[in-house]
Amino acid sequence: MNRIPEIAKQELEKLLNGNKNFINGKPTAQNMCLKTLQNLALYQEPYACVLSCSDSRVVPEIIFDCGIGELFVVRVAGIAVGPNVKESIEYAIKKLHVPLLILLGHDDCGVMKFANEQYPEIPEHFQSIIKSVYPVIDGKGKFDCNNEFARKHTLWVEEYLLNHSDIIRSAVENNKLYIAKCHFDHNTGKVELI
Ligand SMILES: [Zn+2]
Repeated sequence: MNRIPEIAKQELEKLLNGNKNFINGKPTAQNMCLKTLQNLALYQEPYACVLSCSDSRVVPEIIFDCGIGELFVVRVAGIAVGPNVKESIEYAIKKLHVPLLILLGHDDCGVMKFANEQYPEIPEHFQSIIKSVYPVIDGKGKFDCNNEFARKHTLWVEEYLLNHSDIIRSAVENNKLYIAKCHFDHNTGKVELI
Protein backbone atom coordinates (compact mmCIF):
# COMPACT_ATOMS: atom_id res chain seq x y z
CA MET A 1 0.00 0.00 0.00
CA ASN A 2 2.49 2.59 1.16
CA ARG A 3 6.20 2.25 1.52
CA ILE A 4 7.01 0.84 4.91
CA PRO A 5 8.12 3.58 7.29
CA GLU A 6 11.77 3.06 8.13
CA ILE A 7 11.24 2.85 11.86
CA ALA A 8 8.44 0.30 11.45
CA LYS A 9 10.72 -1.78 9.23
CA GLN A 10 13.37 -1.83 11.95
CA GLU A 11 10.85 -2.79 14.62
CA LEU A 12 9.40 -5.55 12.47
CA GLU A 13 12.87 -6.96 11.81
CA LYS A 14 13.60 -6.90 15.53
CA LEU A 15 10.43 -8.84 16.27
CA LEU A 16 11.01 -11.38 13.50
CA ASN A 17 14.56 -11.87 14.79
CA GLY A 18 13.07 -12.34 18.26
CA ASN A 19 10.81 -15.00 16.78
CA LYS A 20 13.93 -16.78 15.48
CA ASN A 21 15.36 -16.71 19.01
CA PHE A 22 12.17 -18.31 20.28
CA ILE A 23 12.27 -21.02 17.60
CA ASN A 24 15.93 -21.75 18.35
CA GLY A 25 15.22 -22.02 22.07
CA LYS A 26 17.53 -19.10 22.79
CA PRO A 27 15.41 -16.19 24.00
CA THR A 28 17.38 -13.09 24.95
CA ALA A 29 14.78 -10.76 26.50
CA GLN A 30 16.04 -9.57 29.88
CA ASN A 31 13.39 -6.97 30.59
CA MET A 32 10.92 -9.19 32.38
CA CYS A 33 11.78 -8.24 35.94
CA LEU A 34 10.37 -5.94 38.60
CA LYS A 35 13.15 -3.42 37.97
CA THR A 36 12.02 -3.00 34.36
CA LEU A 37 8.48 -2.44 35.52
CA GLN A 38 9.58 0.11 38.12
CA ASN A 39 11.53 2.03 35.49
CA LEU A 40 8.33 2.21 33.47
CA ALA A 41 6.05 2.94 36.42
CA LEU A 42 4.90 6.30 35.10
CA TYR A 43 4.99 5.93 31.34
CA GLN A 44 5.10 3.45 28.51
CA GLU A 45 6.71 3.54 25.09
CA PRO A 46 5.79 0.33 23.28
CA TYR A 47 7.08 0.23 19.72
CA ALA A 48 4.44 -2.05 18.28
CA CYS A 49 0.80 -2.88 18.73
CA VAL A 50 -0.10 -6.53 18.29
CA LEU A 51 -3.64 -7.72 17.67
CA SER A 52 -3.52 -11.36 18.68
CA CYS A 53 -5.99 -14.15 19.33
CA SER A 54 -6.74 -14.92 22.98
CA ASP A 55 -5.65 -18.50 22.29
CA SER A 56 -3.42 -19.73 25.12
CA ARG A 57 -0.80 -20.88 22.63
CA VAL A 58 -0.34 -17.49 21.02
CA VAL A 59 1.55 -15.33 23.49
CA PRO A 60 3.11 -12.37 21.65
CA GLU A 61 5.80 -11.51 24.21
CA ILE A 62 7.07 -15.09 24.21
CA ILE A 63 6.96 -15.84 20.49
CA PHE A 64 8.60 -12.49 19.67
CA ASP A 65 11.14 -12.75 22.54
CA CYS A 66 10.06 -9.49 24.20
CA GLY A 67 9.72 -8.22 27.73
CA ILE A 68 7.80 -5.62 29.69
CA GLY A 69 7.01 -2.35 27.93
CA GLU A 70 7.71 -3.42 24.35
CA LEU A 71 4.36 -4.50 22.95
CA PHE A 72 0.91 -3.00 23.29
CA VAL A 73 -1.13 -6.17 22.96
CA VAL A 74 -4.82 -6.34 22.13
CA ARG A 75 -6.11 -9.87 22.47
CA VAL A 76 -9.51 -11.12 21.44
CA ALA A 77 -10.72 -14.53 20.31
CA GLY A 78 -10.16 -14.97 16.58
CA ILE A 79 -8.76 -11.41 16.32
CA ALA A 80 -12.43 -10.59 15.79
CA VAL A 81 -12.54 -6.83 15.36
CA GLY A 82 -15.30 -4.63 16.70
CA PRO A 83 -15.52 -1.15 18.22
CA ASN A 84 -13.59 -1.84 21.43
CA VAL A 85 -10.79 -3.65 19.65
CA LYS A 86 -10.57 -0.93 17.02
CA GLU A 87 -10.40 1.78 19.66
CA SER A 88 -7.73 -0.04 21.65
CA ILE A 89 -5.57 -0.11 18.52
CA GLU A 90 -6.39 3.55 17.86
CA TYR A 91 -5.18 4.39 21.36
CA ALA A 92 -1.82 2.77 20.64
CA ILE A 93 -1.48 4.77 17.44
CA LYS A 94 -2.89 8.11 18.53
CA LYS A 95 -1.63 8.31 22.12
CA LEU A 96 1.40 6.02 22.17
CA HIS A 97 2.51 6.69 18.58
CA VAL A 98 3.39 3.11 17.73
CA PRO A 99 4.68 2.90 14.15
CA LEU A 100 3.89 -0.78 13.69
CA LEU A 101 0.67 -2.77 13.95
CA ILE A 102 0.92 -6.54 13.72
CA LEU A 103 -2.22 -8.51 12.96
CA LEU A 104 -1.45 -12.00 14.20
CA GLY A 105 -3.64 -14.89 13.12
CA HIS A 106 -2.68 -18.47 13.87
CA ASP A 107 -3.08 -22.17 13.16
CA ASP A 108 -5.89 -24.26 14.62
CA CYS A 109 -7.91 -21.20 15.63
CA GLY A 110 -11.08 -22.24 17.45
CA VAL A 111 -13.02 -19.28 16.09
CA MET A 112 -12.27 -20.23 12.48
CA LYS A 113 -13.29 -23.82 13.19
CA PHE A 114 -16.51 -22.69 14.86
CA ALA A 115 -17.38 -20.26 12.08
CA ASN A 116 -16.69 -22.83 9.37
CA GLU A 117 -18.99 -25.29 11.14
CA GLN A 118 -21.79 -22.82 11.84
CA TYR A 119 -21.89 -20.83 8.61
CA PRO A 120 -24.32 -19.43 7.53
CA GLU A 121 -26.32 -19.87 10.73
CA ILE A 122 -26.10 -17.14 13.37
CA PRO A 123 -25.60 -19.04 16.64
CA GLU A 124 -27.33 -18.03 19.84
CA HIS A 125 -24.04 -17.12 21.48
CA PHE A 126 -20.77 -15.56 20.30
CA GLN A 127 -22.63 -13.40 17.79
CA SER A 128 -20.33 -10.40 17.71
CA ILE A 129 -17.31 -12.64 17.15
CA ILE A 130 -18.98 -14.73 14.48
CA LYS A 131 -20.20 -11.65 12.62
CA SER A 132 -16.67 -10.36 12.33
CA VAL A 133 -15.54 -13.61 10.73
CA TYR A 134 -18.43 -14.53 8.42
CA PRO A 135 -17.67 -11.76 5.88
CA VAL A 136 -14.57 -13.74 4.92
CA ILE A 137 -16.75 -16.72 3.95
CA ASP A 138 -19.52 -14.67 2.33
CA GLY A 139 -19.49 -15.05 -1.43
CA LYS A 140 -16.67 -17.61 -1.33
CA GLY A 141 -18.10 -20.55 0.56
CA LYS A 142 -16.58 -22.45 3.45
CA PHE A 143 -12.86 -23.11 3.63
CA ASP A 144 -11.37 -26.59 3.35
CA CYS A 145 -8.50 -25.46 5.54
CA ASN A 146 -9.07 -23.47 8.71
CA ASN A 147 -5.51 -22.16 8.62
CA GLU A 148 -6.11 -20.73 5.16
CA PHE A 149 -9.33 -19.28 6.55
CA ALA A 150 -7.33 -17.60 9.33
CA ARG A 151 -4.90 -16.08 6.82
CA LYS A 152 -7.72 -14.67 4.71
CA HIS A 153 -9.40 -13.37 7.86
CA THR A 154 -6.24 -11.54 8.91
CA LEU A 155 -6.22 -9.76 5.54
CA TRP A 156 -9.89 -8.92 6.03
CA VAL A 157 -9.16 -7.45 9.47
CA GLU A 158 -6.76 -4.98 7.87
CA GLU A 159 -9.46 -3.93 5.39
CA TYR A 160 -11.95 -3.57 8.23
CA LEU A 161 -9.63 -1.34 10.23
CA LEU A 162 -8.77 0.84 7.23
CA ASN A 163 -12.45 1.20 6.36
CA HIS A 164 -13.71 1.86 9.87
CA SER A 165 -11.00 3.93 11.48
CA ASP A 166 -9.98 7.41 10.38
CA ILE A 167 -7.06 7.27 12.82
CA ILE A 168 -5.63 4.05 11.41
CA ARG A 169 -6.24 4.92 7.75
CA SER A 170 -4.77 8.38 8.14
CA ALA A 171 -1.69 7.03 9.96
CA VAL A 172 -1.07 4.56 7.11
CA GLU A 173 -1.62 7.18 4.42
CA ASN A 174 0.77 9.57 6.15
CA ASN A 175 3.44 6.90 6.47
CA LYS A 176 3.28 6.91 10.24
CA LEU A 177 2.05 3.35 10.54
CA TYR A 178 2.81 0.08 8.85
CA ILE A 179 0.41 -2.83 9.20
CA ALA A 180 2.09 -6.25 9.06
CA LYS A 181 -0.22 -9.18 8.42
CA CYS A 182 1.22 -12.27 10.07
CA HIS A 183 0.38 -15.90 10.74
CA PHE A 184 1.73 -18.06 13.55
CA ASP A 185 2.45 -21.72 12.79
CA HIS A 186 2.18 -23.95 15.86
CA ASN A 187 4.35 -26.73 14.48
CA THR A 188 7.34 -24.56 13.63
CA GLY A 189 6.79 -21.66 16.03
CA LYS A 190 7.37 -19.38 13.08
CA VAL A 191 5.61 -16.09 12.51
CA GLU A 192 5.34 -15.61 8.76
CA LEU A 193 4.36 -12.50 6.85
CA ILE A 194 1.25 -13.06 4.78
ZN1 LIG B 1 -7.50 -18.22 17.63
